Amino acid sequence: MSNPSLLILPGDGIGPEVMAEVRKIIDWFGAKRGLAFDVSEDLVGGAAYDAHGTPLHDDTMARALAVDAVLLGAVGGPKYDNLDFSVKPERGLLRLRKEMDLFSNLRPAQCFDALADFSSLKKDVVAGLDIMIVRELTSGVYFGEPRGIFEEGNERVGVNTQRYTESEIARVAKSAFELAMRRGKKLCSMEKANVMESGILWREVVIEVGKDYPEVELSHMYADNGAMQLVRWPKQFDVIVTDNLFGDLLSDCAAMLTGSLGMLPSASLGAPMANGRPKALYEPVHGSAPDIAGQAKANPIACILSFAMALRYSFDQGAEAARLEAAIQQVLADGVRTADLMGPEGGVPVTTSGMGDAIVKALDASL
Ligand code: NAD
Repeated sequence: MSNPSLLILPGDGIGPEVMAEVRKIIDWFGAKRGLAFDVSEDLVGGAAYDAHGTPLHDDTMARALAVDAVLLGAVGGPKYDNLDFSVKPERGLLRLRKEMDLFSNLRPAQCFDALADFSSLKKDVVAGLDIMIVRELTSGVYFGEPRGIFEEGNERVGVNTQRYTESEIARVAKSAFELAMRRGKKLCSMEKANVMESGILWREVVIEVGKDYPEVELSHMYADNGAMQLVRWPKQFDVIVTDNLFGDLLSDCAAMLTGSLGMLPSASLGAPMANGRPKALYEPVHGSAPDIAGQAKANPIACILSFAMALRYSFDQGAEAARLEAAIQQVLADGVRTADLMGPEGGVPVTTSGMGDAIVKALDASL
């Protein structure tokens, strides 16, 4: 059988820097765990614009659709800020998400013990936190019609439409239930069924889909209460599923429970391909960080954790993903820090590659 295929799109700014560290980790799993991938690399964002005059070449798009998973660094930078909207670096990323039809966005909020002091919340509220927010990504109020700014009488009116079909709700609900089955078997669905018809339908469809997952304990919460509960006692949750707009807000809120942007991975999943694997794009939440690009200061952990998500959700290697996460936990516990993770006590930060090397060493020690 051939190796699973991985397309790497490092992108711009710190993207290539953090991705170089992910390559070390991929190589380690090939050499030490017999987990070899067919890795190819291509351009996206400003780098693709520089080479081809477009932020995503058609050939790259075709390759993304053909591989088992795509791993992306980050796109954008001041050099491209004045480009026409149609060729801005972000358009490359949006095209990937759209053409791969990635409707389920997974944003974990996981607090590494050694970094619990970084949260704006009390340590005991966040220590050991491990929750997952599943956000619907391709429908809802960001896409619904009618939309626009219209004249009405003698004033203007701004219109956006929250719209969900049953099948759109069902497919993201299914993906959240599947996820809950692999984790703590608890799912909380958030909407505003008290004031929105789309919320009533959302709740009905989630309950219906839930009948196929009797082992998962399903609960429902109004999204405004959900926001309060996330900062009050986030450990009450395992998996949360919600729509595009609420998910946008709730996932950012949950992410910040855990501290630095340099630590946050994400996955965007679509429908299963012929081989049963979901179409998938893994990427850190952070951007291209032009303020530190080229200075060896970037924290590669968000991107490495994105690869851990790929191991778990695309390649069914949950135990190896856990090995990688434990290695990161160990390195942080040993006090190894990139500049963004330096506490008030100070110390000497490691470089981007110093962090990658430390994680490889911890992986070696795990054997
Ligand atoms: P950013 O995430 O790039 O940076 C915000 C701050 O966090 C900066 O101070 C940066 O130095 C720091 N930071 C981010 N990642 C870090 C890491 N791995 N290690 C250490 N520090 C890190 O957001 P921004 O400054 O608003 O945007 C910069 C560029 O990135 C813009 O062109 C923007 O459009 C683009 N962007 C791209 C994506 C993406 O590719 N998915 C996401 C957000 C922003």
